[in-house]
Amino acid sequence: MKLVFATNNENKLREISQILNSDFQLLSLNDISCFEDIPETSPTIEENSLEKAKYVYEKYNVNCFADDTGLEIEALNGKPGVYSARYAGNEKNMDKNIEKVLEELKNSKNRNAQFKTVISLIINGEQYQFEGIIKGKIIKQKRGKEGFGYDPVFLPDGYDITFAEMPYELKNLISHRAIAFEKLMDFLTNI
Ligand code: IMP
Repeated sequence: MKLVFATNNENKLREISQILNSDFQLLSLNDISCFEDIPETSPTIEENSLEKAKYVYEKYNVNCFADDTGLEIEALNGKPGVYSARYAGNEKNMDKNIEKVLEELKNSKNRNAQFKTVISLIINGEQYQFEGIIKGKIIKQKRGKEGFGYDPVFLPDGYDITFAEMPYELKNLISHRAIAFEKLMDFLTNI
């Protein structure tokens, strides 16, 4: 079965193609000649993820899934959440995003946070969602050079190194995205 992953992110595509079994032919947005920016205008991670999947399903008439991720910080009432990529402005500058978060948490004892990924799958018109959450703490200063996004300030529970200090393989084993992808895989291999 052909299945489009509504992304052109090479890392995400590689990650998922390695675990998807041969019953599925994984296609990217480039593969279906979808070159436009897919709208991400919804107020929650769940709705944003579904918005992307619906856009591709309805416009290109293919079974597909899309993911959306955000960092939810308890003391900031769940922010930056769906706005994680552009928290400090539309230029999507990660240094500035991290600075903003650290500034807002400056006087906060509560450093609890979680990464949440929601994958929306639309297959033969039916919609499904799969969630992956990893809980942790926001530390006061950046540590580590691996990973991307908020990784240098996220310390996952049960570890004394940040996501950015972890080898890529370890993060990919335990991350929010890995948990959500695993649930998607279980579902796809059982249909
Ligand atoms: P996306 O939905 O995967 O594009 O993620 C949206 C934003 O969340 C990214 O631009 C990053 O700022 C942040 N983000 C997503 N996944 C991660 C991660 O694994 N580590 C750190 N930041 C992430």
